[in-house]
Amino acid sequence: MKKLILILCFIQMVVVSAQDIYLHCGQLIDTEKGKVLTKKTIIVSGKTIKSIQDGYVDSENTLDIVVDLKSKTVMPGLIDMHVHIENEYNPARYMDQFTANEADVAFKSVNYAETTLVAGFTTVRDLGGTGVNIALRNAINNNTIVGPRIFTAGKAIATTGGHADPTNGRKKLLMGDPGPEQGVINSPDEARKAVRQRYKNGADNIKITATGGVLSVAKNGQNPQFTIEEVKAICETAKDYGMIIAAHAHGDEGMQRAVIGGVTTIEHGTKMSTKTMDLMKEYGTYFVPTITAGKAVAENAKIEGFYPEIIVPKALEIGPKIQSTFAKAYKRGVPIAFGTDAGVFPHGQNAKEFGYMVEVGMPAMEALQSATITNAKVLGLSDQLGQIKPNYIADIIAIDVNPLEDISTMERVQFVMKEGKIYKN
Ligand SMILES: [Zn+2]
Repeated sequence: MKKLILILCFIQMVVVSAQDIYLHCGQLIDTEKGKVLTKKTIIVSGKTIKSIQDGYVDSENTLDIVVDLKSKTVMPGLIDMHVHIENEYNPARYMDQFTANEADVAFKSVNYAETTLVAGFTTVRDLGGTGVNIALRNAINNNTIVGPRIFTAGKAIATTGGHADPTNGRKKLLMGDPGPEQGVINSPDEARKAVRQRYKNGADNIKITATGGVLSVAKNGQNPQFTIEEVKAICETAKDYGMIIAAHAHGDEGMQRAVIGGVTTIEHGTKMSTKTMDLMKEYGTYFVPTITAGKAVAENAKIEGFYPEIIVPKALEIGPKIQSTFAKAYKRGVPIAFGTDAGVFPHGQNAKEFGYMVEVGMPAMEALQSATITNAKVLGLSDQLGQIKPNYIADIIAIDVNPLEDISTMERVQFVMKEGKIYKN
């Protein structure tokens, strides 16, 4: 009996001392309705949002925390659908693959993860690295390190000599013959094996390199690199495991095969024809523009020695085209999912993308919606992320100015909460 009373006392203590956080929000962006509300209080309890009240409500419990965001605009945490959290490009990067061990990659990635989170990106989809990205995701989920919620593809899937073949450009002795386990496939059967291997490794989603790319040590930056049967095998298998599929694509033919084959998102989309845009609308395929990466590679290519010679002409040709493709696709009604390719440019600068989207015709509210409500939907998490609503995960950020008046304010996020925990204030 004595023991029971003690236990009951303990339970009561825990209940009483559970702290709620009251956020007094001067302005609050309702991403679902596309409206800016004023003078609201968000009450956060544990990892989730408990309620949203009119006006500035104070708690009667002295243990609760009140955060004054009355001069700020508050909105849901941002979601970036395309990052490479493991690395950041610099002229030494091509040598790193021969000198860096997994632990070296891991130590660097810890910083990239934290930088991304404090920039306001509370969730990211990682579209390919060495596999350290899987361990990084786990370390963040375990609260061992600080970073955004990561949904990772592990190592991307390519065909022999394709954009994500890890041994491109090497001498024969170092080239070997990578197969499905390393993410290199050459038939529908190998495609299925590569997807299942990724599932086994702990990946959350699948990335394929449907066409050539800019930053691989290979000549062609846009040729189709998968047969339609291979794309279909990948997509069908991925869907068996509940995984979404991202397709890197610059050239139009490879892009069309990817869309018809069943991918969820087209990344970059540089030479997207109007026919492909219409196909994407028909198939419900999202376009992830990555304009910031396009601009960054075009700029870096002008710096002598930044990239290997074979990459320079590709970067100069493809990089500057992405923004105008985005403008055309948006106007034609292709669904847009916000994504940047951070890692190709410094992590933490992801929000530059908003400015580039707005610059060519997307209203600021729609740009913000693409990074919240739309991306939550693409990830299959519409009922948990992308909105500030009761029972949603408490991922909340605040900026100084209303982004509808000045979108560049997104590059200076002042307050970051992830799962009810404040990381920046
Ligand atoms: Zn990428």
